[in-house]
Amino acid sequence: MIIVINGSQWGDEGKGKVVDLLADRFDIVARYQGGHNAGHSVYVGDKAFVLRLLPSGIIHEDTVCVLGNGMVIDPKAFFEEVDQMIAQGISINPGRLKVSSRAHLIMPYHRALDHTSEERLGNEKIGTTLRGIGPAYEDKAGRRGIRVSDALSPEVLRNRIERNLEDANRIIVTYGQPPLYADEIFEEISALAERMKPFVCETSHFYAEAKKQNKKILLEGAQATLLDVDHGTYPFVTSSNATAGGASVGSGIPPHHITGVLGIVRTYATRVGEGPFPTEMLEDEQETADLIRKRGNEFGSVTGRPRRCGWFDAVATRYAAELNGYDSIALTKIDVLDALDEIKVCVGYVVNGERVDTFPAVSSDLRQIQPVYESLEGWKEDTLGITEIDELPAKAKEYVEFLSKEIGVEIGLISTGPERDQTIIVKGSVMSSWFSGQ
Ligand code: GDP
Repeated sequence: MIIVINGSQWGDEGKGKVVDLLADRFDIVARYQGGHNAGHSVYVGDKAFVLRLLPSGIIHEDTVCVLGNGMVIDPKAFFEEVDQMIAQGISINPGRLKVSSRAHLIMPYHRALDHTSEERLGNEKIGTTLRGIGPAYEDKAGRRGIRVSDALSPEVLRNRIERNLEDANRIIVTYGQPPLYADEIFEEISALAERMKPFVCETSHFYAEAKKQNKKILLEGAQATLLDVDHGTYPFVTSSNATAGGASVGSGIPPHHITGVLGIVRTYATRVGEGPFPTEMLEDEQETADLIRKRGNEFGSVTGRPRRCGWFDAVATRYAAELNGYDSIALTKIDVLDALDEIKVCVGYVVNGERVDTFPAVSSDLRQIQPVYESLEGWKEDTLGITEIDELPAKAKEYVEFLSKEIGVEIGLISTGPERDQTIIVKGSVMSSWFSGQ
């Protein structure tokens, strides 16, 4: 069984909790794209874990975790996170953590370039997390990148650094920042690469062997569908393929070996950074936005930035369901809406006076969108911690059914709070069969 799990919107849908819940039912939990900007928060008892680079499965001692070839890895951030996990009592060793030899490294000059690229874009800035992820992917596509395996060969590493730094410094200096030095970078990275060596693995072969042994594999997307470089709200996107198709390329698992895809959908929408957000709550709905932000703790777990809040967008989620081929949906944060009198759902878009039923490709069109809302009555009852669907207030159940109908996919899991056991698994759903390991 190989399942892909990803966020359906702009991230922060609560994927961390769902992956954590599934992790001990899988032998391997892996990531296939992105870098250390992911930022899942997972709460286990009174412990809080913030995972940026490592898959959430790392918290489960029997799970093997993999960082796939589609990722970009900052070796310094990697060991900071590994050391943090060890300090929190998690055992980490090469037996249970594998890094693809083909993953690309984020170099110190990528971080410096990230700062200049936002400056270069001026008003069109993307709102990146400035960790060098975008520039590392640019080098990968430009065939200048340094892969993990390259860093293990001192000669190759030194040559690549020298060659790349010449160009990078030209830009860095133009933007008034101090130049970087090849010797310093070489020393820092070669020492980190040496420390990383025991974790390095031919991961696609590892997966092929795992498949032969019928191991269960969970492939965890970072960021989310609408941030996918091909299918998202370009140019306000991440630099990799967060959609389910990316799972195959980014891990080296043949597409037809993937058993199913689970989408994480939240009962409302948020977005961090810049970019179009059709259902954003504007000035007249600030009170509702503040209430949701507070109840849902909608502040970036890495950056602490307040997230922009908005109503559930069924058009965008339908688009995500089609793109990823969702077999089931995990709906999170229903409890956050308990306090609302009225809940709106965007069921269609009007662009330039015309109704459109599909998600526009052009980001300026997305800015013009007038959302068409349907309004549902709130349930105004506590749903926190409910574990059976029949115990949900009738109006909450209606809301769930309404969303499922609008998206066209079953809702197989409903999250009623941040803790693992605050979860409803819908009996008879596709999701429940994965959950029970069938
Ligand atoms: P992720 O990157 O998609 O995992 O999103 P975050 O790490 O930003 O997680 C969202 C936050 O919501 C975390 O603080 C979770 O503990 C919390 N969370 C997840 N599911 C629920 C839920 O059903 N209800 C509530 N109230 N909080 C939740």
